[in-house]
Amino acid sequence: MTTKTYKATIGLEIHAELSTATKMFCDSRNDPFHSAPNTNVCPICMGHPGTLPVINKKAVESVLRVGVALGSELADFTEFDRKNYFYPDIPKGYQLSQYKYPLVKGGALNGVAITRVHLEEDTASSGHDEGDYSLVDFNRAGVPLMELVTEPVIHSAEEVGSFGKELQLLLRTLGVSGANMERGEMRLEVNVSVSDTDKLGTKVEVKNIGSFKAAEKATEYEIKRHIEVLESGGSIEQETRGWDDTKGKTFSQRKKEEAQDYRYFPDPDLPKLKLSEIPEFSREVLKKSLPELPWERRERLSRLGLKPVDVYIYVTIPEAGAFFEATAQALGNRKESILLASNYIATDLFGLIKKKYGEGRESEIASLPFDAAAFAKLVSMIEAKKVSSRGAKDVLALMFESGGDPEKIADEKGLVQKSDEGAVKSIAMEVVAENPTVADDFKKGKQASLQFLIGQGMKKSKGSANPEVLKAALMSLLS
Ligand code: ADP
Ligand code: MG
Repeated sequence: MTTKTYKATIGLEIHAELSTATKMFCDSRNDPFHSAPNTNVCPICMGHPGTLPVINKKAVESVLRVGVALGSELADFTEFDRKNYFYPDIPKGYQLSQYKYPLVKGGALNGVAITRVHLEEDTASSGHDEGDYSLVDFNRAGVPLMELVTEPVIHSAEEVGSFGKELQLLLRTLGVSGANMERGEMRLEVNVSVSDTDKLGTKVEVKNIGSFKAAEKATEYEIKRHIEVLESGGSIEQETRGWDDTKGKTFSQRKKEEAQDYRYFPDPDLPKLKLSEIPEFSREVLKKSLPELPWERRERLSRLGLKPVDVYIYVTIPEAGAFFEATAQALGNRKESILLASNYIATDLFGLIKKKYGEGRESEIASLPFDAAAFAKLVSMIEAKKVSSRGAKDVLALMFESGGDPEKIADEKGLVQKSDEGAVKSIAMEVVAENPTVADDFKKGKQASLQFLIGQGMKKSKGSANPEVLKAALMSLLS
């Protein structure tokens, strides 16, 4: 039986390929996914002797922009180091990385302190499915890669997932990386330890994680494994483990190497950078280049009074966010109208999308046969009571099928709400004439009878009568 209380501690190392046009140190195309193997290569990224690398300015800028967004300290002096090791996917026999002078230090995301963000080059990708040999594709070799390291300050698997998602959202918002986990554009390694004292326990690093869900599962698995080992009197060995998603288990890969094993030293072929001498890299200039950040957008939308679930969707699904913003703008940003519009997006429009495409396909909002301006027009019609809420649903369903102007559709389908008193009054008169007993009951004081008569009138008008106006007409006839 456990009598001790264990606390889990987690630190993350996250890599993301930067979406620059060219590679980190040469002008080969940065396109590791879409081309035939070994086509986006040149003597520099193939590591041929005598070639000289050139630093990709855009890649440096991307990492600095991430740093500004995270509220980090930007390096003034920086350099690239050689990280030496031997592997078929590393053509030079070393990876260009940053060791002592990362571009970015400190800052925080989701309340998690960031240690550093540095820039390096990706390795080639090797296919191990060929029996006794491997095929190596160098399209990925030399692709700019940022690495973000957090402090060991995370304490649950859930926080691991939410940190990863928030970083992914940030990278996409900044436009610096596609950050797709499944494709390996973004790769997350979790370092886990467990301790029953104030001192941190021995950490184990887990790699081969292909999704945020897998990151959470691997974290949970390791925490449980550590506690079991410690409880049975054993000790945790510092090592690197892999995550087997099918089995839902981690497995030992190698005992962890030390930094000294890599014999880091500054690359003599690349210039040192003094960032204050580069005007585009001043904090002010970089700051101006930032779009509205996810947490800023979250706060602005919440302040408008939108429901948290709606805010969540607009912030995490850019297509939905863009549609909402365009609708809001077309409605002149009037608060009442915006809230009404958001309700129609979140319930009716997403309802139609779900029915057609299935769960989790909200981004299809970008492929509707009508634009936000047409949608905003429908919302204005609802507000002006030109169409009832029932009629609006029908109009929207028709727009969803084949586009079109909401006013025209309402006209053609007889869905324009009749608020004009004369027309509604004649409907009320017909209803009273056809239901003399019910009308009498109401006169005698039976309130429920009025509801029935309103219902009959709405039916008669095929839903097009304004219920308020109809009610007033009936009451004046029967008083
Ligand atoms: P190494 O030198 O082994 O690479 P670092 O100190 O650079 O270790 O840390 C690498 C990652 O491991 C960081 O994300 C850090 O937060 C995390 N980490 C370090 N020590 C621990 C620990 N005891 N428990 C959990 N995570 C840790
Ligand atoms: Mg390290």
